[in-house]
Amino acid sequence: MFLIGHKTQWRFLVRLIKNQRIPHAMIFWGQEKLGKKKAALEFIKLLNCQNNQLRSNKVEEKEFIPCQSCLSCKAIEKSRDPNLFFLAPEEKEIQINQIKNLQEFLMLRPRTGYFKTAIIDQAESLNSEAQNCLLKTLEEPRGQVLLFLIASRLERLFSTIRSRCQILKFFPVSFSEISGEVKREISETELRRIFFLSQGRPKQIMDFLENPEKISQTLKVFQEAEKILRAELFEKFIFIPKFFGKEISLKEMNEFLDGLENYLRLILLKKTGLKNEILDLFNARTIENYSYKKLKKNLENIQTLKNLISQTNVNLRLSLENLFLNLEPN
Ligand SMILES: [Zn+2]
Repeated sequence: MFLIGHKTQWRFLVRLIKNQRIPHAMIFWGQEKLGKKKAALEFIKLLNCQNNQLRSNKVEEKEFIPCQSCLSCKAIEKSRDPNLFFLAPEEKEIQINQIKNLQEFLMLRPRTGYFKTAIIDQAESLNSEAQNCLLKTLEEPRGQVLLFLIASRLERLFSTIRSRCQILKFFPVSFSEISGEVKREISETELRRIFFLSQGRPKQIMDFLENPEKISQTLKVFQEAEKILRAELFEKFIFIPKFFGKEISLKEMNEFLDGLENYLRLILLKKTGLKNEILDLFNARTIENYSYKKLKKNLENIQTLKNLISQTNVNLRLSLENLFLNLEPN
């Protein structure tokens, strides 16, 4: 499947090719699970597509998409293209030796007429040494090379790196864009539910569609969230081992925090009085005595905790207890 949504971004990218103004490095920036890496891959396909008709002026920009069937498109789809290098954090960080491997790859000449491309996923995990090393590559761009840095937190990248990259921001997409693209056997109610839980993020929506058990997991958290918010502090602490068992995995923790976050968003929507039909979708009871200020603070706390656990080895149980301490409504 081609990209879901991100039409403005795609038009911008196509114009770069048409005007032959392809930069050496780009940062695709926006919250997680929007499909930024997918957008980079589709753009790389288009750049190297053997059936690319970009030089024809008869075709509208929005219609320029990779053919998906030539050898190059297929190899990129399967991450088997020798002109594409992919790197992501090992453990929590991207280390300098990974950037050195990338530099070695870039030294080799691409096949004539092709672009050499690399995708650095979760680029905010580049540690300082790795960023310094990468900077050298960005300072001396050479030949038909294009680097993509996929990042959800721009502020963690050196300003010297940011200033050498073309930055393209990605946003959540609308319901109509999703429903237009997802042609599966799924009812509109179910799709609306998934849309709310995914907060309009295409990658997350695809994850839910491919793994329906994740929806029931999220809904379970949803039901627990209401109980947790009403519970006394000691009950909240008892809840943690009851819900997670002896040990909490990072994945479970993230799913739980997503669920909790979505539950607080439901309360927020109810308070605005605008979206009662969403409450009906979930058949959810909500807490009445939450102030806007407190809701906002708690949503921020959850976001901070998500960032913390993705980047450090903080103790998950303790940090969850800490969150619960501040979760009281008022
Ligand atoms: Zn192709």
